[in-house]
Amino acid sequence: MNYQKLKGTVDILPEEASKWQHIEESARRILKSYQFKEIRTPLFEKFDLFARGVGETSDIVSKEMYDFKDKGNRHVALRPEGTAGIVRAYVENKLYGPEYHKPMKLYYFGPMFRYERPQSGRQRQFNQLGVEVFGSDNPSVDVETMLLAMDLFKHFDLTDLKLVINSLGSTESRKEYREALISFLEPHFDELSADSQTRLYKNPLRVLDSKDKKDKEIVKDAPSILEYLDEKSRIHFEKVQSMLNALGIPYEIDTNMVRGLDYYNDTIFEIISTHPKFGANATVCAGGRYDSLVKEVGGPDTPAFGFGFGLERLLLMLEQSQYDYPNVQTLDAYIVTIGDQVNEEATRLAYHLRKNGLSTEREFMNRKPGKQFKTADKLNAPFVFTLGEEELAERKVQVKHLETGLQKQINLDELYDDFSTVFNSVQTTLTKKEE
Ligand code: ATP
Ligand code: MG
Repeated sequence: MNYQKLKGTVDILPEEASKWQHIEESARRILKSYQFKEIRTPLFEKFDLFARGVGETSDIVSKEMYDFKDKGNRHVALRPEGTAGIVRAYVENKLYGPEYHKPMKLYYFGPMFRYERPQSGRQRQFNQLGVEVFGSDNPSVDVETMLLAMDLFKHFDLTDLKLVINSLGSTESRKEYREALISFLEPHFDELSADSQTRLYKNPLRVLDSKDKKDKEIVKDAPSILEYLDEKSRIHFEKVQSMLNALGIPYEIDTNMVRGLDYYNDTIFEIISTHPKFGANATVCAGGRYDSLVKEVGGPDTPAFGFGFGLERLLLMLEQSQYDYPNVQTLDAYIVTIGDQVNEEATRLAYHLRKNGLSTEREFMNRKPGKQFKTADKLNAPFVFTLGEEELAERKVQVKHLETGLQKQINLDELYDDFSTVFNSVQTTLTKKEE
């Protein structure tokens, strides 16, 4: 039997997993400073939630969903993104109630699933950090949330980045723009890619963000959506820009930028890596305002703003910048065992060391003492406890500080009875610098 992981999935091995932990912990600290709280929702939901929430014509729903009938004949789907499920949870748990602080600022970490062609920075199971802010249409929510996204990059000293913004206006004004765009594109119908031809009448805005070279050339001269904004959207977008300016945050406006998810209105943004080596999948973070989705999913009219942040792509950026990950897996003590008879005591000693806060490893393989000491050295253990059969008969253990080379015998039962006094004293003795 020869099993291999499915295409587009990865095993995150321990060394890699510690990088993920570091990223998560750092991000959680930043999110906390912005007063976001974590929410955890199921990895699968009703198919209809995504069809409705993300949009029937979006690539995500029409091409990329992992959906299936479960044994109870329910049509379910592995979540392709986080927002729909969180909006469902927000509505179902009535998080809009008067007992909750407004706006409600939520974040999540976790795997998402999309049936895509795997390549660098594109997997079928990938991980996102996402945030959602519910209950305020204040443009400073847009700005603060973009600032948070930028802070996540800054924390890791990443610089080859640009913030790109656009406004999609209101649903109403977008209808008008849609017509204008169709009129502009129709004369070019035959030159458009097959994908764009099918999109033209279903979702013409998506033609703007086609990756096809010819399409790109055509849409360069397309009418700008910003010309079609109504008064309210225009003012909103102006405020967003003036706040970004006032805060000294550089950004670009790309009037051809749209998002793959249908639920957005007004401000949308992407953070793109400009590193020359990053390749095609350079958007690391993307999001925007979605004021109608909560109502669409059955809740009260609630404005919202959020983003999804691709963690695999962040890791790729960190690799390129040769980011120095801190060593998280540190060891405080190693127990060297000599002889079969000390096996049980080694477990007891390890238990006591760990109970008192020392990260401890012990020998299990019965190797020669020299080999065991080499291992302790390789693992950077400051202290080695050596249990030998003769010492054990006297209830003694040898403690050695590897850096100073000093060692001392101590009584095991005294150590167990009053760990901190005994250990502190031996620590002081062994780490003392020579006069
Ligand atoms: P793309 O245009 O690259 O397909 P998207 O518009 O589908 O991106 P979103 O749905 O906005 O992406 O998701 C937000 C972020 O999640 C993306 O910017 C990216 O960093 C990440 N992401 C999306 N799809 C994948 C994937 N298949 N593998 C890895 N990361 C992904
Ligand atoms: Mg995509």
